[in-house]
Amino acid sequence: MTLIVVSNRLPFVLVRDDSGVERVEPGSGGLVTALQPVLRNRGGRWIGWTGATSEEPSDTPARLASSARRLIHRMRGLVGAGSVPRTPAGDPTALFAEATRRMGYEVTPISLSVAERDLFYYGFSNRVLWPLFHDLPSHCEFRPKYWAGYQAVNRKFADVTARYAGADDFVWVHDYQLLTMASDLRKAGVTSRLGFFLHIPFPVADLFLKLPWRLPVLRAMLAYDLLGFQTPRDQRNFLSCVSQLIPAVRPEGDSPMATLRVDGREVRVGAFPISIDPADFERRASEADVQEKRQKIREDAGGRQIILGIDRLDYTKGLTYKLEAFRWFLTHYPEFQGNATLIQVVVPSREDIPEYQENKMQVERMIGEINGQFTREGWAPIHYIYRSLDGPRLPAYYLAADVALVTPLKDGMNLVAKEYCASRVDGGGALVLSEFAGAAGQLQGGAYLVNPYDVEGVSEGLARALKCDETEARRRMQEMRTAVKQADIYQWLDSILQAAIAKSLADFPLVEESLPGTSPPPGQSG
Ligand code: UDP
Repeated sequence: MTLIVVSNRLPFVLVRDDSGVERVEPGSGGLVTALQPVLRNRGGRWIGWTGATSEEPSDTPARLASSARRLIHRMRGLVGAGSVPRTPAGDPTALFAEATRRMGYEVTPISLSVAERDLFYYGFSNRVLWPLFHDLPSHCEFRPKYWAGYQAVNRKFADVTARYAGADDFVWVHDYQLLTMASDLRKAGVTSRLGFFLHIPFPVADLFLKLPWRLPVLRAMLAYDLLGFQTPRDQRNFLSCVSQLIPAVRPEGDSPMATLRVDGREVRVGAFPISIDPADFERRASEADVQEKRQKIREDAGGRQIILGIDRLDYTKGLTYKLEAFRWFLTHYPEFQGNATLIQVVVPSREDIPEYQENKMQVERMIGEINGQFTREGWAPIHYIYRSLDGPRLPAYYLAADVALVTPLKDGMNLVAKEYCASRVDGGGALVLSEFAGAAGQLQGGAYLVNPYDVEGVSEGLARALKCDETEARRRMQEMRTAVKQADIYQWLDSILQAAIAKSLADFPLVEESLPGTSPPPGQSG
């Protein structure tokens, strides 16, 4: 049995610098964190888009470089800095083969044309599914040509995957870009077990029904054998859409796993909240350079309380609402003026999409306004950082904060919230968390849950978190840390493998010794 992972993007990106020299750099994202160590030590294959287009090399450097830089330090933590070799210019397949030679699994890059990228990725994925599934239909552009492009690229992914998928293999497809791929795989004659995991939310039926192609999308999803969602709410939403649109298919059971009978087959539908490797964050939080950096951040804050926001630039993260709530907070809790600082990190993302540029301008304008209104000698209310934090910086900021303010309008999970708790080896820190983040399900015992649209409510939650006495704050943090440790990334993987193929992580034999600097998950080393 081979594990074949298919995702829109590979865990590596091809970067071409201004002089035309290409190199492969480690990629980014929660999925990489989750799967890389497992695949790397157990064989398998990863199929995905390189991020480059076949006929427009000149458009790639800036975007790819920024995408690669964005979260590069996370991969460094996993594979060790410098372990991804630089390679001479050449065809992407050779570059990827060389760069991944030591990784212990095969990588199959897929290349897209400019037209394919524009319709499939910028079009249907980012202008239809992304906003609709995040409950923001007013951001959607339901263009038929996007749908046509999406189907064509899903077929392309399926055709490539079909070359490798044997009857005994498990093909595990990821995320909203590849919802319809399973039906193409079946049409191509693939008989492997097919699993799918949706990293973003699944919307309520009233919203999903707005999708002009709702029925073919839903029918194609039912070609998977296992459909995994982030939360029971997402799972319920999906089942309710099936009941409304395909009444002949009736769910049996619900939580944690429902079964649908579709044309004589069984489709299992479950909730599997994704997580992190808390031990890794604990280890990093204890390192000397992180502690030093933490100390420096605290000194720079001059004894004031630190409120920390870390968000990728994306309208779903609700940054403008957060800033409005912070303005309200400073106005209505004036005792915090001069005594609390919001450090807001915004990680560059999708910079070439006009809507994201507009969002950035809006965010920066609001920060300027708030700082203009409240700054006094020696204190500005918002310290704004527009870049990805590398090295010890991210864990140091997690450790330095008094309160983390995580208020997405909607989020599949939100790993920042879990990483923050895992990093608090000192037992300190409080979390104000959007009730619409998937992470709220696991962290509700200790977090101050807020409705991100409610500026008064967020402001009040923030004030409560900042004023909380130490015993209560520690109890809350302890509760959240326990929740994160109890359901870590390895349990997530294990439960999906169990549900999909009745195997656990331990059933995937090691194909080589662990590489230096890698740590197999506890209890899974053989
Ligand atoms: N992150 C990072 N560099 C930063 C800030 C954040 O690599 O400067 C990482 C963070 O560690 C987390 C991820 O970005 O793993 C963000 O994941 P999340 O689920 O919170 O949001 P997403 O960006 O996937 O929507």
